[in-house]
Amino acid sequence: RAKAAGRARFVLFDDSLQRQAMDVLGLEHELRAAIAAGEFEPYFQPLVRLGDSHAIGYEALIRWRHPTRGILTPDKFLPVAEESGLLEAIDWQMYRLACAAAAPLVKSGGFITLNISPRHFQNDDFDERLLRLTAETGFDPSKLRIEVTEGTLLGDPDAVAKILDRLRVACVEAALDDFGTGYSSLGYVHRFPLKMIKIDRSFIDSLGSDRSQRSSAVVGAILALAHSLGVEVVAEGIETELQRQALVAMGCMFGQGYLFGRPKPAEHWVEAPAEG
Ligand code: C2E
Ligand code: MG
Ligand code: MG
Ligand code: MG
Repeated sequence: RAKAAGRARFVLFDDSLQRQAMDVLGLEHELRAAIAAGEFEPYFQPLVRLGDSHAIGYEALIRWRHPTRGILTPDKFLPVAEESGLLEAIDWQMYRLACAAAAPLVKSGGFITLNISPRHFQNDDFDERLLRLTAETGFDPSKLRIEVTEGTLLGDPDAVAKILDRLRVACVEAALDDFGTGYSSLGYVHRFPLKMIKIDRSFIDSLGSDRSQRSSAVVGAILALAHSLGVEVVAEGIETELQRQALVAMGCMFGQGYLFGRPKPAEHWVEAPAEG
């Protein structure tokens, strides 16, 4: 019996390894086809004022309308896109669609944000290209913000700071995404022209749980730093009213999360705008 089980396990393992390799190849092939066919779509999730849930902006999040598997979230395909060198092409398609779709979302104020992967900052003309895109789609650059991560900032700090500076001059502000997950060093933040810091969901998750003390301390420290620098703070991944209240009590002004709305196509927010 043990022997049979052992053999079965081996076969299963072997199968799954082979399947994994085939999946990656298959996915890469499908991604190329998806770029050609234009199967990517921007979804939008509101960023709200925590006091009254008024939407101050929307984050554009990529989705893949797969021909057979339905709507796929980025965790299902961005890693392979990155490895196979397709991420930039996919991103530019996505950014264009997001700018084209977002005009009605920002008509009465507010902004949209785009997630920019570190790779884009290896091109010194990223800012030029982004501004060309806003011109071509007729999107007001002052209503566009970009989200970058700690990894991006610290990759080549001087080069990145220059690109961010030029974008800021063109009225495109920057937000620091997933803050607290990377180097978590508060010391370098002031060296970059940031309008906004987004506290990673992992810290918000544990607010109101047994692990809340440590998270509260981190959130409190981020808030103190950001406020001293005049930077806005958004708490990511708010799912409960308790979390919202805890954040308000700590002086956090803005948030984002399923409590206020899941990512949806732009039309959803135009037809039924978030309160306010
Ligand atoms: P992110 O930029 O940190 O985006 C927030 C993620 O958290 C989104 O996942 C969003 O759907 C999810 N989220 C929002 N509120 C809640 C909540 O209350 N609870 C939970 N559990 N999750 C929440 P999504 O859309 O799957 O995107 C995942 C990541 O993929 C993003 O993380 C971002 O890093 C990346 N990404 C998304 N769109 C793009 C894009 O157009 N280009 C690039 N390069 N990366 C993108
Ligand atoms: Mg983001
Ligand atoms: Mg984030
Ligand atoms: Mg994240």
